[in-house]
Amino acid sequence: MRKLLVCPVCYSKDVELDTGGVSGKFCCKNCGYIGSFILEMTEGELEEMLKAKEKDFDKREF
Ligand SMILES: [Zn+2]
Repeated sequence: MRKLLVCPVCYSKDVELDTGGVSGKFCCKNCGYIGSFILEMTEGELEEMLKAKEKDFDKREF
């Protein structure tokens, strides 16, 4: 199964290699994150993680 590139900050799938992959970094078009760390997962794994994140979010007290 094809793996998706997922932003570690906002969990958007709208991630591309920055400057065509020359820098080896990734760029998130949703939140503007640029970095070499990126999440790689399948669609199913992403769904699971988003569910977990929602639960996590409820616990936060910002
Ligand atoms: Zn992002």
